[in-house]
Amino acid sequence: MARGVVRLAPSRTCVSCRTTRDKRDLVRIVRMPDGKVVLDPTGRVAGRGAYLCADGSCWRAAIDKNIIARALRVTLPDELRERLEAGPAATPLHDQGGARGEE
Ligand SMILES: [Zn+2]
Repeated sequence: MARGVVRLAPSRTCVSCRTTRDKRDLVRIVRMPDGKVVLDPTGRVAGRGAYLCADGSCWRAAIDKNIIARALRVTLPDELRERLEAGPAATPLHDQGGARGEE
């Protein structure tokens, strides 16, 4: 009877390797409504998202092939590009607090 009903753990597909994984194993990159593109460790930023494997294995390929830019139809900002090039070790994937929204 329960056929096909597995679990409701949200899953997403990595835009680089096309692997479907648990959402927690992916990092979200978001194009916000104002056009800014940011890494979104919280998964709560409003906007169009693209996901990459959180272990960083796909980050370099995503840059080389311009996958993020194409997925989100944006130009990858230098800052984000540098963070992806540096890999997950250089990117704290948790909320650092101090949400800054306005400038
Ligand atoms: Zn991947």
